Amino acid sequence: MAKKVQKKRVRVGTPVTTGHALLASAKGREPRRPQLATNRRRTARAQKHVYFFGKGKAEGNRTMRDLLGGKGSGLAEMTNAGLPVPPGFTISTDVCSIYSANKGKIGVAIEAEVVAHLRRLEKAAGSTLGSTSNPLLVSVRSGAKFSMPGMMDTILNLGLNDASVEGLKARTANGRFAYDSYRRFLQMFGNVVLEIPKEVFEREFDAVKQDRGVTQDTDLDEDALRHVVSRYKAVVRAKTRHEFPQDPLLQLGLARDAVFRSWMNPRAKEYRRIYDIPDHIGTAVNVQMMVFGNTGDRSATGVGFTRNPATGAKEFYGEFLVNAQGEDVVAGIRTPQPIRELERVMPAAYRQLRQITTRLERHYKDVQDFEFTIEDEQLFMLQTRNGKRTGHAAVVIATDLVAERLITQKEAVLQIDPEALSQLLAPGFDPVEWAAIPVAAKGLPASPGAASGHVVFTADDAVEWADARKPVVLVRRETVPDDIHGMFVSQGILTATGGMTSHAAVVGRQMGKPSIVGAADIEIDEGAKQVRIGGRTLGEGDFVSFDGLTGEVKLARVASKPSEILQVVAGQLKVADSDIYRRFNQILDWSDRFRRMGVRANADQPDQSALAYAFGARGIGLCRTEHMFFGEGRISIVQRMILADNEADRRAALAELLPMQRADFYGVFKAMRGEPVTIRTIDPPLHEFLPKREDLMVEIARLESRPEGADEMRLKMTLLQRVEQLHEFNPMLGHRGVRLGITYPEITEMQTRAIIEAACLLAKEGIKVTPEIMIPLVGHVKELRDQKAVVVRVASQVMKEQSMRVKYLVGTMIEVPRGATTADAIATEADFFSFGTNDLTQLMLGFSRDDVGKFLRVYQNKKILDKDPFTSIDVDGVGPMVRMAATLGRATRPGLKLGVCGEHGGDPASVHFFQSVGLDYVSCSPYRVPVARLAAAQAALSVRVGD
Ligand code: PEP
Ligand code: MG
Repeated sequence: MAKKVQKKRVRVGTPVTTGHALLASAKGREPRRPQLATNRRRTARAQKHVYFFGKGKAEGNRTMRDLLGGKGSGLAEMTNAGLPVPPGFTISTDVCSIYSANKGKIGVAIEAEVVAHLRRLEKAAGSTLGSTSNPLLVSVRSGAKFSMPGMMDTILNLGLNDASVEGLKARTANGRFAYDSYRRFLQMFGNVVLEIPKEVFEREFDAVKQDRGVTQDTDLDEDALRHVVSRYKAVVRAKTRHEFPQDPLLQLGLARDAVFRSWMNPRAKEYRRIYDIPDHIGTAVNVQMMVFGNTGDRSATGVGFTRNPATGAKEFYGEFLVNAQGEDVVAGIRTPQPIRELERVMPAAYRQLRQITTRLERHYKDVQDFEFTIEDEQLFMLQTRNGKRTGHAAVVIATDLVAERLITQKEAVLQIDPEALSQLLAPGFDPVEWAAIPVAAKGLPASPGAASGHVVFTADDAVEWADARKPVVLVRRETVPDDIHGMFVSQGILTATGGMTSHAAVVGRQMGKPSIVGAADIEIDEGAKQVRIGGRTLGEGDFVSFDGLTGEVKLARVASKPSEILQVVAGQLKVADSDIYRRFNQILDWSDRFRRMGVRANADQPDQSALAYAFGARGIGLCRTEHMFFGEGRISIVQRMILADNEADRRAALAELLPMQRADFYGVFKAMRGEPVTIRTIDPPLHEFLPKREDLMVEIARLESRPEGADEMRLKMTLLQRVEQLHEFNPMLGHRGVRLGITYPEITEMQTRAIIEAACLLAKEGIKVTPEIMIPLVGHVKELRDQKAVVVRVASQVMKEQSMRVKYLVGTMIEVPRGATTADAIATEADFFSFGTNDLTQLMLGFSRDDVGKFLRVYQNKKILDKDPFTSIDVDGVGPMVRMAATLGRATRPGLKLGVCGEHGGDPASVHFFQSVGLDYVSCSPYRVPVARLAAAQAALSVRVGD
């Protein structure tokens, strides 16, 4: 769905004298005098909302991320550690909640607290906001508990006005720098606070450059920049019908509020939706003394990581720009230099940076992602946080940190996002095929993985193509945070500018999307939707492929190959030859030591079961027997069984199916090497096995015109008649699950026979299996009793025929609400329960599993639902039902075995919930087994039963 970012225009209001008044006026109310003095006593007693850092001491620390956000707590921690951090203060996340709850007001007490901290900052900095001789300039930056790169707003150089810019000029003896800072501030403030589109400023800037006959920003002298400043002020006047606010306190209030508002902008909301970050936690605002990386060639700004975030290699990694401000690096406007160059350009600052960042990594026991600025060769740290990384890097880094004795195995298990493991199972290109295609362009390998798809040039187009199920590669000059929705649906992201820490690179890595950035030899004309790569011009829809690990771009559609992990699992690559496989396995071995829940797989075929076993599943939690009916040559027999209008014909068809099902079960049991296997009797509505009514009607019409087709036509007409008889208005609520077994017990008989005969065959080969026969969709104990009687009768008969005994269990799925509410009664007949959370979710929310896609996105956009309840368990709605059924079941039968086999079994957040309920195991698709093993370990380490 195409999304447009719509911003509401903010008016500055009539120019008045105080910041608070203007702020009030900006919101269309009567100006009100600030009540600073009268509120002082109340403030002293009130809860603290602003936290200072500076001069080696901070009021916050690393444990206060909830309150101070990641950036604020990192700045506090670095300050306390004696690192060179410019002083400042953090307005807590609580204030963001107050701002939202009170329609944009934070109250006079907090306003006063902010001003008091500003005065403290001025003292620490030795300069004053708005001073005409020695002005303090500050940055106003967002910073939530979880980093949301580029999603919220930032304002730099705040405090400049027509008078203080002269003060800055005098202090630095650098007029060009002073006016460059002022024009940057006007542009940022104009865009972020006053919501004037960036392009309007860019047009003015380009016009001045053209006037002066220069191409580079850096070629504009002081005079030209003064001219830019006056044109920018004219833009503000024209767009807001007011002068640019000159009062620094007003600037600060407006900037702070704009940052709070940016918490709720569409891209930040979308980002939180994707990464499951709750809306209510809010962002903090950091106000910090500016230091300048743009005072000349002895200044620089940069970002970096203590290890390579793409591969995990232990190497100092990052980039910087000489004579630039921080935003220039992250925005990807200029392509920066690799950080090792800094050693050559400013050796002392480089050495100090290495020392500090090594210290930070040891302190936080994790890779650090840091920001720094060098002002006249003096280094300042502006941020440190745990670095985002690819799945590959996550595994390499965690295993390395354990080997270096920096963290324990337990800490390694807790450090890795379970989804990282599924990234490692993503495909790559076949090396031979890939090598045969010429390289059309090269860029920086920002996020590994193979991407191949149709070229699209905008995020909205990406969504449109992806909605039509077409793979796309998003090709952009540079990505911006507003592109998040397009990046999410793309196979990969390719940009022409930007470095390894540009927006596209950071977000690509985090999403596990293959990404190449800074491919300087591709030329993009976004307006014309064309890109020139390797001498060819591609338009929207043409094919492009790239390898995010090497940075190579090729003009072809290339099929991808399985991941290295999968190759080892399939026996095509030796364990000894795959470093990443050994590390992957190491993490999972450690996880197994800590987890309490078992991990099984949902698998119906021997090869799937073998794969699941190789991934570490120890048991099958759900074998959907009806999937076996779709196998080669079976569907016609199944159709005969369904079409039979008498028991004898039905039994004849079932007799043909018996050896096939027996062979299937034999294969699955064998692949699971004696681990428990839960086999479910037939579940879906029968018409799923029959041709569609409309298709039959078309065929009959076609046959009617051909006399030689008369026999076939009669057959089709009988089929059509039966299809019409079987038609149901609500098949999901119709003749399915246990209801089929009750109406046609011969199906349950055949399936029981096939299961027990297969178990006997294996027992004869010395492999002991304990089949768990599971009856689906039970809502009443009598349904289970009915089917159990059939199972027990047939099982005894088979064992007698085979003259042997095999142990087996009979249990049920809990997936109908009535089954859950009467679980105590049902447990009298069940050896085990397996929660069918797919149907349970469908029946509790009343959302059809098959139709939810039509409205889910709207529900999520409107925040009616945070997550897809079919992916991640609805803890508040469906969760209590699961908990109640577990409690009721175990009240009747204390040792009752409990598991879950709905899709939620492979979702980390749901796994946490199931741990808290006390389930014995989770069961998920084979590819999710590694994720579930790690998630189960994390859950066991952080959840107590009964939580
Ligand atoms: C369920 O309903 O959760 C389940 C596992 O069964 P199915 O998806 O086959 O209906
Ligand atoms: Mg079900």
